[in-house]
Amino acid sequence: MKIICIGRNYADHALELNNPAPSQPVIFLKPETALLEDDRPFPIPEWSDEIHYEIELVVRIHREGKDIPSHEAHLYYDEVSVGIDFTARDVQSKLKAQNHPWERAKAFDCSAAVGRFLKLEELDRPIGDLHFQLVKNGGIAQDGHTENMLFPVADIIAEISTFMTLKPGDLIFTGTPAGVGPVSSGDLLEGRLEDQLLFRVAIQ
Ligand code: ZN
Repeated sequence: MKIICIGRNYADHALELNNPAPSQPVIFLKPETALLEDDRPFPIPEWSDEIHYEIELVVRIHREGKDIPSHEAHLYYDEVSVGIDFTARDVQSKLKAQNHPWERAKAFDCSAAVGRFLKLEELDRPIGDLHFQLVKNGGIAQDGHTENMLFPVADIIAEISTFMTLKPGDLIFTGTPAGVGPVSSGDLLEGRLEDQLLFRVAIQ
């Protein structure tokens, strides 16, 4: 499986990092070894002094597809969750300054936390009308709504599948809203989608 991530998909987050809103989706990958599931703790890597949380809606692909038109994208997933795109912001800033790829800052082990998946039919709401929150040590750190995506899920799937075959089990991290910030050892991060708690990750 692969993890495909979308950068700068919410205008308020692009702004907080002084990035322009993109004219097409910003796409990057994380490897399978980045997965952090089942509420396992997140170990802060030794080589970074600034790990940020980014909560994101995560879509799980359940059918193989290539060149998927936007209007058929909904046929390729039936489960969603929330996850954290852990980012070594200090490393990413240096890479950006050198126009280098982001993998060192984004694709490291345990950098893709994902919660329990929910069937969309269970949620009984369209994917473009979902509310999600990151709670840090009991306080709301990020509060997002999928209606504010610059590129909605259907467009993301269409775009990715023009050049990369999507396969069952692939995960798409759909971008983070404003409010990203650093984590410290001892923090507790919780992810909520609508009224459900889907993950709880302790920072080590
Ligand atoms: Zn992200």
